[in-house]
Parts: sequence; C-alpha cells; structure tokens
Amino acid sequence: MAPEGLVVEDEPDIRALIVHHLTKDGFRCRTAADGAEAFARLRAGTPDLVVLDLMLPGMDGLEVCREIQKRDWVPVLMLTARTGETDKIAGFAVGADDYLTKPFSLRELAARVRAILRRMERAGALGAATPDVALTRFDLVIDPSRRRVQQAGADVALTPLEFEILLALAQAPGVVFAREQLMERVWGYRDHAGGRVVDSHVARIRRKPRDEAAEPRYIRTVHWVGYTFREAGA
Ligand code: CA
Repeated sequence: MAPEGLVVEDEPDIRALIVHHLTKDGFRCRTAADGAEAFARLRAGTPDLVVLDLMLPGMDGLEVCREIQKRDWVPVLMLTARTGETDKIAGFAVGADDYLTKPFSLRELAARVRAILRRMERAGALGAATPDVALTRFDLVIDPSRRRVQQAGADVALTPLEFEILLALAQAPGVVFAREQLMERVWGYRDHAGGRVVDSHVARIRRKPRDEAAEPRYIRTVHWVGYTFREAGA
C-alpha cells in the first residue's frame, strides 16, 4: 500500500506543489489548510508522515506539532520560512523529526521524506525482528515491539524519533556515539547542523523519563563527542 502523507499548508500554491511531488513519489496525500483541519484529518486515520508548515493561520505550526505528538505516533517534517536557527531548534523542541527552510528544492523535500520513511521502516523491521525482547535498563523498560517505554512501571510518552534515539543508545550501554553517528543511525543521513539537532532531542528525552539531575542516570554527555547510555554499575 502506498504511504500516506498529510500536507498542512495554508498557501494553496505551495500545498499543491508539495502534493504534486509527493504523489509523483508514490504517496497518497491528504491536505489541510490549518491546525483544526489537520486534527480532523488525523482523526480519520494516522498517515505515515505529516508535512507541516510553521506559519499557519490560527494555531501555528509549532503548536500543531506539539498537539500531533501528544496523540499520534507519526513523524513530522516541518517547513519554515524563517531561517533563524532558533526557529529550527524550536521546531525540534516540539518534536518535529526534521525541518526544511523555505524556499527549499523539491529534490530536497523528496530526499528528506524518503529518509524519514526509511527510518520508520527500519524501526518497524526492528520491532518485528525482536517481538518479545524488551530492554531493561535501571528502572526503564524499553520495548521495541510495542514501541513503549516505562519508567518504574509508568508509561513515558516519547515521539518516534525520541524513542529511536533512546533505543539506539540503550542497546549499547557504555558505547559512545558521536552526534554525527547518532544522526546517521537514527535520521539516516548527516547534516551540518546535526550536532545541535541531536542535542535538542536528547534534552527532550531527558525531560521525559525524568533524567535532569546533575549526573543523568541514563544518557550521559561525553563532552565534545556525543552521548552514551550508562552501564549498570558505572
Ligand atoms: Ca504558511
């Protein structure tokens, strides 16, 4: 079955252009012009990907993204007209998987979309390949098949991307991952801004299974390099 995309963009020309190219790339597309429409479409079924414009009338893209991440397990590619790094980071802070700054090339859009789908496929295959094996790390239970994390028995709500970062690290306690390695492994490509992107996602993960103590219990920062999951007894 063809993957399905939801394109949320208020400018009809840009929306049509994105839909045209996603369709050419084998997607079925639903569209929405604002947040309220987007939620209505999502209630009708979860797509494989949401392409979400930052500047929307009414509720802005960041808020829409935050709401989507609360209800659905779906990757979000954010479109932003602003070029400031703060906006990019703000996008990640609400759980967007990736972003494109307008104007973007359609080839770039296609490449990002494919990278997200590959990542989701890999994650799905991983879940299928390890149906019953949940990782237990300290008081965390990380279950790849159900894509669920519990801390001391309580569910922790992570976005798909956060889950994959946590899983990648927790599968190899003590192994230091450079930011670029994590980026390549989880996102499927490298990006010059990768370090910052990885940092902002790790910061989010640390706010979820509460891990913000001076000495984090799970994910440790290795200065100038990247991150490592703490080994038992370390
Ligand atoms: Ca717009």
